Amino acid sequence: YAAKRRRTGVAVYDEARDGQGRHRLELADQLRRGIAGGELVLHYQPKLAFDGDHVVGVEALARWRHPERGLLFPDTFIEVAESSGLMGELTVAVLDLALAQARTWADSGHRLSVAVNVSPSNLVDDRFPDEVAQRLRVHGLPASALVLEVTESLLMEDRERAVSVLRRLRDAGVGIAIDDYGTGYSSLAYLAELPVTELKLDRAFVGTMVDSPRNSAIVTSTLQLSHALGLVLVAEGAEDQATVDALADLGCDQVQGYHLSRPLPPEQLLGWLRDRAVRATAVPA
Ligand code: C2E
Ligand code: MG
Ligand code: MG
Ligand code: MG
Repeated sequence: YAAKRRRTGVAVYDEARDGQGRHRLELADQLRRGIAGGELVLHYQPKLAFDGDHVVGVEALARWRHPERGLLFPDTFIEVAESSGLMGELTVAVLDLALAQARTWADSGHRLSVAVNVSPSNLVDDRFPDEVAQRLRVHGLPASALVLEVTESLLMEDRERAVSVLRRLRDAGVGIAIDDYGTGYSSLAYLAELPVTELKLDRAFVGTMVDSPRNSAIVTSTLQLSHALGLVLVAEGAEDQATVDALADLGCDQVQGYHLSRPLPPEQLLGWLRDRAVRATAVPA
């Protein structure tokens, strides 16, 4: 019985794994060609500073215009990129698109920093800081126009290498954000020693803070921690006005979330910025 069960189990498992493996390989192959062929596009989500209520920057979020499957979100391809050795190429492609866009905005009078998400393999690559510096030069932008977002878990993997790569980037003037803060396992001692400029508190805490005294307490204490360490606190995932108001009351520095805007294609972001400016200067009837 055991043998039979094992045999069946193995057979079923292998089949599933085989199918999945083939699917992943095929997807990785399509992604490799997609990156080279310009199928990646970026949507941009604005970040608002409470100080003066102005848009300080945007986060670039990757989308893949798959020729057959339409617009794909990162949950369908970031892991594939990471596990198939494509993350270096993907990040450089994203950096290029984001910096070219930031250049265009700068030329039309919008001073927006742009944030790009990076992955574990980027941070253990000793050439990455030079690559970033080169891309900034090509697009004629100062390092301060760029923020790189890293997650805590990413920093756990090869900590020494990652910290040295981050330090070189930071020394060059690039902003460094800890993304999804509060969902990883990094110790506070470790945090104090990282070359970072901002914490992005995960939306798991922000989204429910209005109804949850516990999450509201987490926001408050993270805010104190950030300020004690000289960091900017960005709240992620504010979905309604009540949350935005609560964050402002607590003294949070910046906010990002659907209530402000969903991630938008660049031309729509420009429209959104113009509408905001018009509303801000409109005389109430
Ligand atoms: P992230 O960096 O934490 O980005 C924020 C995600 O939360 C985005 O999802 C955004 O659309 C979503 N979001 C923003 N505001 C709200 C809100 O108010 N409510 C809710 N429910 N969600 C909100 P998206 O674009 O699907 O990206 C998912 C993740 O994929 C990102 O999380 C990031 O970790 C990764 N990612 C995206 N682009 C890239 C990239 O170019 N490179 C790498 N390595 N990772 C990327
Ligand atoms: Mg991010
Ligand atoms: Mg995040
Ligand atoms: Mg996230």
